[in-house]
Amino acid sequence: MKPVIGVLALQGDVREHVAALEVAGARAVTVRRPTELAALDGLVLPGGESTTIDKLLRIFELFDPLRAAIAAGLPVYGSCAGMILLADRVLGATHDQQTLGGLDVTVRRNAFGRQVDSFESSVEMTGVPGGPVPAAFIRAPWVEQAGPGVQVLARTRHRGASVPAAPGAVPAAGAGEDAGRIVAVRQGTLLATSFHPEITGDARVHELFVAIVKE
Ligand code: GLN
Repeated sequence: MKPVIGVLALQGDVREHVAALEVAGARAVTVRRPTELAALDGLVLPGGESTTIDKLLRIFELFDPLRAAIAAGLPVYGSCAGMILLADRVLGATHDQQTLGGLDVTVRRNAFGRQVDSFESSVEMTGVPGGPVPAAFIRAPWVEQAGPGVQVLARTRHRGASVPAAPGAVPAAGAGEDAGRIVAVRQGTLLATSFHPEITGDARVHELFVAIVKE
């Protein structure tokens, strides 16, 4: 049986996650109402704007039910803004910004700075076999601090790291301050990436999440 995985569909790149989840072997459904949570085996929080999604979660009366579902063990994958929504602590949050929490990390919003606030790279990711994952960073956060129960799955490349010469390989990001930053984490059934794997046509991160949901 295919697991049923929701994609929070209040704002952000919902369609891309639905498509990637289907490729990864799940049945993907969009979620806008609290009553829709009960049918889910897992949920994706897409990229977009975390402050906007936070406000919409409260308007749609999803904030508290979702927080409770995460606390009760619902597997959730958060990408970019979704990572921010899962984080227990946020640096650079707006004054009234709240998060769902659950992931014992401190994230820094818009961490990669103005000049490189959007770039494409590739990252080696623990749990994702088959070589580096193409990764789009769009005004992305990084994980500044991770608690003891958090497994670091990926970091940005260090300066001078070799780039695989695969066809279509994308240039390595990460020189200076941006290098070696934590950009993918897992804590139990919670998974989060700073980057968007759903827009690069590679479903391996979603396959990892589907495997976590099936566990
Ligand atoms: N910078 C955005 C935020 O703070 C996240 C960007 C994204 O999801 N691509 O929510």
